[in-house]
Amino acid sequence: MDIDAILADERGLDPADWEATRRLGHQMLDDMIDYLSTVRERPVWQAVTKEAKEHLDRELPLQPLSAEAVYENFKTHILPFPKGNIHPRFWSWVEGGGTPLGVLAELLAAAMNPNVSIGDHAAMYVDGQVIEWCKTMMGFPDNAGGILLSGGTMANITAIQVARNSFADADIRREGVGAAGAPLTVYASSETHSCIHKAVEIAGLGRNHLRLIPVDEQYQIDLTMLQQQIDADRAAGMLPFCLIANAGTVNTGAIDPLDELHRICQQESLWFHVDGAFGALAKLVPELSAELQAIEKADSVAFDLHKWMYLPYEVGCVLIRDVQLQRAAFAYQPDYLLSHERGLAAGPDPISNYGMELSRGFKSLKVWMCLQQYGLPAFARQIRQNIAQARYLADLIDAAPELERLAAVPMNIVCFRYRTKEMDEATLNMFNKELLMRLHESGIAAPSYTLLRGRYAMRVANTNHRSRKSDFDILVDTVRRIGAGLAREWSAQTSG
Ligand SMILES: *Cc1c(COP(=O)(O)O)cnc(C)c1O
Repeated sequence: MDIDAILADERGLDPADWEATRRLGHQMLDDMIDYLSTVRERPVWQAVTKEAKEHLDRELPLQPLSAEAVYENFKTHILPFPKGNIHPRFWSWVEGGGTPLGVLAELLAAAMNPNVSIGDHAAMYVDGQVIEWCKTMMGFPDNAGGILLSGGTMANITAIQVARNSFADADIRREGVGAAGAPLTVYASSETHSCIHKAVEIAGLGRNHLRLIPVDEQYQIDLTMLQQQIDADRAAGMLPFCLIANAGTVNTGAIDPLDELHRICQQESLWFHVDGAFGALAKLVPELSAELQAIEKADSVAFDLHKWMYLPYEVGCVLIRDVQLQRAAFAYQPDYLLSHERGLAAGPDPISNYGMELSRGFKSLKVWMCLQQYGLPAFARQIRQNIAQARYLADLIDAAPELERLAAVPMNIVCFRYRTKEMDEATLNMFNKELLMRLHESGIAAPSYTLLRGRYAMRVANTNHRSRKSDFDILVDTVRRIGAGLAREWSAQTSG
């Protein structure tokens, strides 16, 4: 290595011309504010073109390109083909649409670029404050712990990891799950999100030990069958240790009977975890606060701020009632991560002692800024509005003779299908899938889908602060129009 030659030509990655960067940055900001403020004028979704796909399938770049040219490529090949979740008529899966200050907060966080894991710097205190605010929102005690993560999946995984490592006196961190002496079993309803399956697998418990308890007509866990399963497992020498309640199932928004589940957990000495990925925040709404009150008694709760708090991706949260158990589940004190008394290496206990990640971005900043900007009541009002809109949509569907609602609407999710008398169930499934694909291709609205007791449902999950009542009118009108056309096509085919 020719050290002298290299050092004679030192460079960094900052621009030679900061003014050009400033101009480009201003341009981007103007463009993005236009983009957000005109979102309603564009289709909710459009297919990624062949040219764009080709552009996004290029070789690893070896030659430099100006930042301006790279931005042009972004505008041509990426920006026109969004997922759609910032659009007022996007209701697919469960996705938030972001807020403008949240977008700007991401810029600020990226500019400061702290790794929020260890050290005495402001971002550590912002993270800590946001966790305190989350505890207040969920009615968790002062001495509870928590951590911000990429989303609900990681939040649920983290909670189950803490629950597992807290089992009895077994030193599972040291000895592995075998130290428990017999298989640890977990209980949840059959409607439970797939990330719980992953969590159980990652915790080394084995998917066979996740007991999926059937649900009733309302898609709530069947308490009698739950108790029977726990009893049977104990009789068979298993070790029931954790129960996962749904505060808002992903399919229909069902809320499991939390009080009864909490009581069973106390009787059976089970860890009481609530997956409230979106639904936990509905606790802020007066009409649902009683039904969701028992979240306050949970050993842990997982919820997302990028779903029903509308913040930009990614940010989820897990709260753990006993912060010492959380710490005991993850803490390590390697020589290079020991906190000092003063200086940069002082500050709060490293966040890596409370979760799996070491490097962490400054995702708390957007939460901190947006909670201050709007105040908590504005979020409660927004969530309440989404629920009212879902009920409005349910009424529209119930009033439309060719539409059939397929589940109750306890929160913000509406499942329905188009129905014609001539079709059997299998045909209806194919018909509604085709209808949904055409609806997406129309660019007018984007519900998603699920299967409910084998029936294909179009599924509207409303965590959208940009939706208005009229958007649901448009959805129903468009589904009826596309459905009628499709029904004519299909009957022409069968008769012809
Ligand atoms: C979305 C969701 C999850 C997973 O959360 P991510 O943020 O997508 O990782 C878990 N449970 C439920 C009920 C959800 O709706």
